[in-house]
Amino acid sequence: MRIGAHVDSTDPLAEAAARSADTVQFFLSDPQGWKAPKPREDAERLRAAEVDLYVHAPYVINVATLNNRIRIPSRKLLLGHATAAAAIGAKGLIVHGGHVNAGDDLAVGFDNWRKTFAYAADSGGFGVPVLIENTAGGDNACARRLDALARLWDAVGDHEVGFCLDTCHAYAGGEELLGLVDRVKAITGRIDLVHANNSKGTFNSGQDRHDNLGGGTIDPELVVAVIRAAGAPVVVETPGGVAGQAADIDFLREHLGTETPAA
Ligand SMILES: [Zn+2]
Repeated sequence: MRIGAHVDSTDPLAEAAARSADTVQFFLSDPQGWKAPKPREDAERLRAAEVDLYVHAPYVINVATLNNRIRIPSRKLLLGHATAAAAIGAKGLIVHGGHVNAGDDLAVGFDNWRKTFAYAADSGGFGVPVLIENTAGGDNACARRLDALARLWDAVGDHEVGFCLDTCHAYAGGEELLGLVDRVKAITGRIDLVHANNSKGTFNSGQDRHDNLGGGTIDPELVVAVIRAAGAPVVVETPGGVAGQAADIDFLREHLGTETPAA
């Protein structure tokens, strides 16, 4: 099982080595900004690397919203990131499920997701698997709870679309982790990546506050059980820098019975 971490984008392979990780996730631009990603000078080295790469799209992207001034640039930015992720040989591009504004019809939000995939298909395709991630908060989210996720999949399921399950977001979002993988797979048919995070916020708090696996409000054995059931690669998005994340990766390897890759 491949296990890694969300790391700084300057030298992701060095970050992977520092954590004995065989998988890394990183941003290709400022996650709070609208700038298109620049081509990376290390693209060839990244493509050739043994480490599996995942790209996380900027947080500002919200393709579901009814607000044109956010939705239209979000689509473009998502496609730009997918193209840039493909250029470095990434295994997937993770993007949050997004939301509509209070009072807006969530059905339109799901249809906006469908239009996003149609737009990408008309533009030559994303070029890399797009993995929609569940989110922790809000009353109008497309992928916080599974009833919404089912409606989202009804809208986008005809396209090639993957799913990234974040344990912190699920728990803080109000979904019990016990049996969650089966309930998700009944909707999506797949889990492509697990974001293994503990949660500083309590169950159903709606708070997106990640903690190290041994901390937080989730029994870490439940996180392990989710990973085992999902059978998907794992990325920890936990605090504490190299030491904190390396400890989380070691914890998972120990409990999953997987070996540290040879340096
Ligand atoms: Zn996540």
